[in-house]
Amino acid sequence: SSFSTLDLQKIAQESLFLFSNLADGKRIKLELSSDKATHEVKGSSVQLKQVFNNLIKNAIEATPEKGRITLTLRSLGNMQQVRIKDSGTGIPENVLANLGRPFFTTKSRGTGLGLAISYQIIQAHHGRMTVQSSPNQGTVFTLNFPSAWIEK
Ligand code: ADP
Ligand code: MG
Repeated sequence: SSFSTLDLQKIAQESLFLFSNLADGKRIKLELSSDKATHEVKGSSVQLKQVFNNLIKNAIEATPEKGRITLTLRSLGNMQQVRIKDSGTGIPENVLANLGRPFFTTKSRGTGLGLAISYQIIQAHHGRMTVQSSPNQGTVFTLNFPSAWIEK
């Protein structure tokens, strides 16, 4: 395949840089926290960047002025974990039930494709995505990918 060894930290930084203006405009703090210097997985950097971009964009759109979005990278033995936590509106039950369905959106100009495409990409990388959300407190998307040294 076209997969190569790449660093999730680098991809996260590039994605955060891409959205820094949008976040600044809403006075949202975008933070990156990481437990080590690199978080290597095997994958396509173009595709994984798209996942980060989709999730960060959703987080910014859901978060009111002066909120906070934190990306956390952790190395968990054979897994590399990414958490994207926002202090936004949260996701109501009826929306949670439809999450990841193509063209499902609650936005007037949404495509409803961001999460559907992200799920596909994560699957192709042998990863998992889970979501935890509390109305009015925020949302956390957690992604787990096999570490680069794991054979697939
Ligand atoms: P779109 O952003 O175009 O609506 P997505 O597939 O990216 O499509 O997201 C689908 C829906 O999931 C959004 O319309 C929104 O209702 C909900 N959603 C996704 N991420 C978040 C989040 N971080 N906070 C609250 N709602 C979210
Ligand atoms: Mg979206």
